[in-house]
Amino acid sequence: MRTRPGRHGPQAGVRGRVVAAFGRHFTVECEDGSTRQCYPRGKKGTAAVGDWVMIAPEGPSEGAIDSVLPRRNLLYRSDEMRTKQFAANVDQLLIVVATEPDFSDELVGRALVGAINAGIAPLVLLNKIDRPAGLPAARARLEPVAALDVPILELSARDAGATRAALAPRLAERTSLLLGQSGMGKSTLLNALVPGASAATQEHSQALGAGKHTTTSTRLYHVPAGIATGADLIDSPGFQAFGLQHLDGPQIVNGFPEFAPYLGKCRFYNCTHVHEPGCAVLQALEAGRIHPQRHALYRRLLEERELGQRY
Ligand code: ZN
Repeated sequence: MRTRPGRHGPQAGVRGRVVAAFGRHFTVECEDGSTRQCYPRGKKGTAAVGDWVMIAPEGPSEGAIDSVLPRRNLLYRSDEMRTKQFAANVDQLLIVVATEPDFSDELVGRALVGAINAGIAPLVLLNKIDRPAGLPAARARLEPVAALDVPILELSARDAGATRAALAPRLAERTSLLLGQSGMGKSTLLNALVPGASAATQEHSQALGAGKHTTTSTRLYHVPAGIATGADLIDSPGFQAFGLQHLDGPQIVNGFPEFAPYLGKCRFYNCTHVHEPGCAVLQALEAGRIHPQRHALYRRLLEERELGQRY
């Protein structure tokens, strides 16, 4: 029983937001605050955490996802093997790194390219400044990022009060996605901002009868109003790789905003900015106005796309 589009009778669908994804099962938070376990109708199960959806309620606590409403953006990664959706309708990407252990500047660079292409503002969180031995090296590794005017906040997530004070104004009234390699203290940070988040995740998995392998799924949390107003935080696992094979050449270039002043100034209109004579981007690289690591990443992304190889 479904009403015609535009009608809002008693059988009309219910609007909600996807707050957790377990394979093809989704938890949807309806606008009255209740949650329902939902499955996608049909075979196209493309909903992501953060999506707004229309569902048809079934029984007291279940439902079918009839449609995914138009999304503002979707951050995902892809290589030739698979595609992984991180989250949809995201305002800000929080990339968590730490003074120790070493983080992958490659992953950070790739996440920036993905975020910029999806229209998501990046913010790097340099965690564990209470362990300062690695701080100078970490700052040095972040130099190519800092040169892009991407904000970098230094903090210690173990100091929950200071972390909340530093992040509250940046989280308020926005949906932020949290990514970080294991060991960077992402869980500690999440628990500082959403007390009890880990416990809630376990409870949720048990309620679904989910096994151990699904306990680390993407989830959307509401940051308590006493910590930040109107802030939603999406925690996503799976930051061990960040393939960008879904980006075409112009999109890859777009992921490097520092190239922008030189585009259109190369000798050849179809310049790839890799080897061509008279390339304005390569001249800027040689003059030190573009960071060599960033240009090296650009070349790798182009090569991966051409060769269809995993990195
Ligand atoms: Zn060029």
